[in-house]
Amino acid sequence: MKRFRAAIDVAIGGEIAAGTYVLGPAVEKFETEFAAYLGARYAVGVGSGTDAVTIAFRALGIGRGDEVITTSLTAAGTAQGILASGATLRFAEVDKATRCLDPRAVEAAVTPRTAAVVAVHLFGQPCDVVALGAIADRYGLVLIEDAAQAHGATIDGRRVGTFGHAAAFSFYPTKPLGAIGDGGAVVTNDPAVAGRARALRTYGWDGPERISRFIAGNSRLDSLQAAILSALLPTLETTNRERVMTAAAYLSSFSGLDVDLPMQKAGAVYHQFAIAFSHRDRLRQWLMDRAGIATAVHYHPALHQQPAFAELNHEPLPNTEALASRLISLPIEPELAGPNLARIIEAVSSGIAACGK
Ligand SMILES: *Cc1c(COP(=O)(O)O)cnc(C)c1O
Repeated sequence: MKRFRAAIDVAIGGEIAAGTYVLGPAVEKFETEFAAYLGARYAVGVGSGTDAVTIAFRALGIGRGDEVITTSLTAAGTAQGILASGATLRFAEVDKATRCLDPRAVEAAVTPRTAAVVAVHLFGQPCDVVALGAIADRYGLVLIEDAAQAHGATIDGRRVGTFGHAAAFSFYPTKPLGAIGDGGAVVTNDPAVAGRARALRTYGWDGPERISRFIAGNSRLDSLQAAILSALLPTLETTNRERVMTAAAYLSSFSGLDVDLPMQKAGAVYHQFAIAFSHRDRLRQWLMDRAGIATAVHYHPALHQQPAFAELNHEPLPNTEALASRLISLPIEPELAGPNLARIIEAVSSGIAACGK
């Protein structure tokens, strides 16, 4: 973010000069630009990615009495956002290689109450929304994409976030497109869904009369953040390319090692680069102590192992649990390059050898 400081300063100055502060031209401009970038008809800026999930559900009329299927290997916001709509949740198993929902497990989890499937493009890897969409069609379900980690990721040239009935994006600072604070968007091609999402972000108002048509909160994309996001959107292709280049270097350097690597998928944007390694905690400590390299864990425990979600129904989730206990996220931020990257690759290779016994 620091290298784009000049453009961000201009955006902030412009918004202060405009003096709108809430909604108005900056938000509309970013919504138009982001929808055009994705190849979708509408983007509706909201307060966070979690709120984007909730608002997408409510805009589609899914809530109390409905059951939603999603993965347990995801950020808490996916599940919190679904549950805040009033719907209930059933976790389905992930595929060991893609780490995303296994379409067969999703189909097996469908019940008469199932209303929707939430496909999470985990770590910026496009998940199999084509197969999930076919299942959704077969059972009359709604498909929603959680694309909070996958801004710009593609499947056969088409951007993720345009495959389902609606998609949720987050602009949390670490995401591929990040603001300087919280933000999110609901993306859809359906004008009725976009209109309801706009009403749902502002007290249930659905027109200039400012009359509340239904119960709704206040969850708007901040205008200052929208102006900053407009300034950063043109840099997304560059930063995504830098992540992809780092991932390519990792993939070729680690191919002979005793670890599970992310799938090499065309169109991935590598929000995270997570390797699965049995002695995960030992390796993290080794990298910190020997090389000063900070790593992260996404996500452990898995959601179904966390108190808030422990009562929810699910089949046994051995793949999810095995990944949750083994995944370690290596540095992949866009600025990473040159000697620094070579040093990390060298340290990780040595660390895996040292910690593997
Ligand atoms: C970050 C994230 C969210 C939540 O977004 P917030 O803006 O933090 O509320 C939801 N789902 C996934 C997959 C995420 O990575």
